[in-house]
Amino acid sequence: MIEKDARAGAGRNGGVMTFLERFYPDEYLESAYVIDYEALYGQGYRGVIFDIDNTLVPHGAPADERSAALFQRLKQIGFESLLLSNNKEPRVKTFNDEVHSRYIYKAGKPAVRNYVRAMELMGTTPETTMFVGDQLFTDVWGAKKAGIRTWLVKPIHPKEEIQIVLKRQLEKIVLFFYRRAKKRETNGD
Ligand SMILES: [Mg+2]
Repeated sequence: MIEKDARAGAGRNGGVMTFLERFYPDEYLESAYVIDYEALYGQGYRGVIFDIDNTLVPHGAPADERSAALFQRLKQIGFESLLLSNNKEPRVKTFNDEVHSRYIYKAGKPAVRNYVRAMELMGTTPETTMFVGDQLFTDVWGAKKAGIRTWLVKPIHPKEEIQIVLKRQLEKIVLFFYRRAKKRETNGD
């Protein structure tokens, strides 16, 4: 048997684990609204890329007071921001009209090109950019490929279309291994 994973001690499941790790977020939080943006600005972050649907509001819902307040707060802190959505322009533009950020629609996540474009528009680099989104196989994977630190948040709306529900089942599997790996890190194993 040929073990492709060359890391010492990777063991029999090394290949699978390496495969799953590409979907691991850097942080996993309850909501985009509990992130300590002030502290992160202090750490040198200057731009935040957001997914919209189920990250900032329920899927397809308009911007609300909470989201408008968040973008005002980000501006006051000094952050650049951008909405990166795979949704169509009318949805994304209407949302942006309420929060006064900037946007890229039909972004083609997890493809890297529009993450790069987002950083160009914000004048930031992978080192100074954060990504916040609710899906592992689009949001997180794309951001990681672009070298951007990622915050996975729990989806706002529990009722989702069937293709998303199926993806969530796969996400659960990845998150199981992610949590286990985190626990091991914490325990110092
Ligand atoms: Mg989403």
